[in-house]
Order: sequence, then structure tokens, then C-alpha cells
Amino acid sequence: MVRRSVALLGATGSVGTQALDVLRREPERFELVAISSGTQLEGLAEIAREFSVARVGIARASDAPAMAALLEPGVEVVTGEDGLSELAASADIVINAVVGFAGLPVTMAALSAGKRLALANKESLIAAAPLVAAVRDTPGAQILPIDSEHCAIHQCLASSSAPGHPDVRRLILTASGGPFRGWSRERLRSATRADALVHPTWSMGPKITIDSSTLMNKGLEVLEASALFSVEVGRVTVVVHPQSIVHSMVEYVDGSVIAQLSRPDMRLPIAYCLGLPERLDHAWGALDFASGLSLTFETPDREAFPALGLAYDAAARGGAAPAWLSAANEVAVAACLEERLAWSDIVPVVAEVMARYVDDPLASLADLVENDAAARRLAAASVTKRS
Ligand code: MG
Repeated sequence: MVRRSVALLGATGSVGTQALDVLRREPERFELVAISSGTQLEGLAEIAREFSVARVGIARASDAPAMAALLEPGVEVVTGEDGLSELAASADIVINAVVGFAGLPVTMAALSAGKRLALANKESLIAAAPLVAAVRDTPGAQILPIDSEHCAIHQCLASSSAPGHPDVRRLILTASGGPFRGWSRERLRSATRADALVHPTWSMGPKITIDSSTLMNKGLEVLEASALFSVEVGRVTVVVHPQSIVHSMVEYVDGSVIAQLSRPDMRLPIAYCLGLPERLDHAWGALDFASGLSLTFETPDREAFPALGLAYDAAARGGAAPAWLSAANEVAVAACLEERLAWSDIVPVVAEVMARYVDDPLASLADLVENDAAARRLAAASVTKRS
């Protein structure tokens, strides 16, 4: 068995921790060679010791001496965006579990270096779709989605090989509906951050848990699916499925619907992305049909959850619009998590920013950084006005 090297960027977060659990069980197959975290130095040091990791990345150069002091002698410490990019180009498989727009350098560096990118950071793909598309053709480069819905679609598309998937009628993303499923627009005015942070089926980090409660996560996933599978957004639909057993589906033109099922467990998509073309023998999320299984589906309430419509609008406008959507949402969600913005004001902040968007075709990375900053400024002003 060829042992493949893995860089795990965003190692101390929710996906990072679950990826470590997969790697821990497969020491013959995978060697963890690089890890990173923004500021969790102690957590990184612990992982570095357990896996004998050679290289460690952190956000700030000023933290480097403190980081080095926690590590065995000889472990290399790199910092900032350049450091992250270096780590992303250094392994056979790169897991991008960095949260938010900060994950973009990892995506770009891994693909430019012709690596397999196991992508949990949807924001980088959504914001920079035209730029990512340009480096995806690098020989050896491959994106495999860790996002459970997209990982499901990747599996369901196995019988469709033609570029652009003309034999596919639509991609059907499932949504749990989050903690506020069935709530009316009226009732949602009283929803709180604490309510939003309790997800009914998935255990995830705080940013994505909030995104799930507004359905912005599903909106972002529509954009993600369109970019990942080169399927226009009009062929990506969303269905609410509260049990989170069917992770997504593909409907072919002959009427066949192929679905992927398991209990919700992020280790399954992580293991899929690491192991492909082989499957790792662990049966995470295996279903017990003997104990009964009922699956239900319903249409999302787009009036109560306008985030979904905002995402489709951003997709229709293209260019930098998805980057604006994602950036404004990041600012609003961060403000909510820091108790500076009410939960019910998250989507209104994003809507206000999107109303100010002026079409921009997004020609370069510099262009993207500028657009991202502009959307963040407007979102920050909108947050201040409301708090
Ligand atoms: Mg998902």
C-alpha cells in the first residue's frame, strides 16, 4: 500500500478534529505531515506530538516563538497566508478545513500544485469560482468535496461522465431545515442565537451551524454545487429532509433518482475524499434498517427563509456577486456569534449589502480581494446601524 501524505489545514476545528479521527485509524495509508490553525497553539502542539507532524502553520508571525516553544525541536513553524500556501503545496492530499474566506489561499495553492484538494471550505470555491476554475485543470489537481451534500452528489454522479452532465436533469440538495424548520416568518423574529446554535442532526462548528439555521448554508451549497459540478444553478434544487439520512440526490433525464444515504457523520465524507478510488473499511454512519427508517421530504419555505432566494439571485448575477454574498454573511454571522447582532438581523444585513452590489466580472485575485473588502465594509456598517 502506498502511504500518502496529508496536510490538514484548519486542524483544530470541527472538521479538523473529525479528520484526525479518520487518520488515527489509518496510519498505514496516510501520514499527516502538516497542520495549521489560526490561533489554537496548544491544540496544534498536541496534534503535532500525537502524529509526529513535521510542519505547523499559524496565522500570526508574532505567535511563532510561542508555537515553537510548544513543539519538539526540529518541527518547522510557518506563518500567515504564505505559510498556509506552502503547506497546501507540500502533501499528496490537502484537507482545507479553514473557516471562511481565509481558506482561499489553501484552495488556490493546492490546485496550482496539482494536489488532491479535499474541500470543506465552501466559501473559497463560492467566492472565487472563476479563479478556481482556472487552476482546476492543473495536471494532477482534483477537488473532492467534504461537504456531505456534495460528497453525496459526487458519488451519485458516478454513472454520468460527460462534461456538464447533459444526462442529469437536476442535482437535488437535501437540507435538514435546521432548528427553525416549520417556523413562520412571524415566529422567526423571536429566534435567538442560542436557539440557532442547537442543530437537530449534525455536529458542526458555530459558523456553519448558524448558516444552517438561516438556510444560508443551503444557499451557499447551491452555489458550491454549481461550481463544483459545472451544472448551471437552474438545475440545482433544494428539498428539506429533516432526518439528514439522504445526503443528496441526482435525478437523471430518464427519471432515475440516485441517492446516497447514511447516518449523519462527517467522518464518512472525509474518509471518502481521502480514500478514493478505494473505500475505507469503517462503516461510519451505517444504517440499521431493522430498527425502522422513515424518510420525509418537503419544499423549503422561501418566504420564511429568504437566504435561499438571495443565493439564487447571486448565482444569476455571477461575477463577484457570490463573493459579496459570502463575505456579507461571514461578517453578519461573526457579529451574531459575538452578540453584536440579533439572529433575525443576519439575513437582512446580507440583503442590504446585496442591494448595493454593482456587476463586476471578477477578473483577478486582486479584484476578488477588493470586492470581498467592499462587501465586508458595507456589512460592518449595516451591523453597526442595527446594534
Ligand atoms: Mg453541507
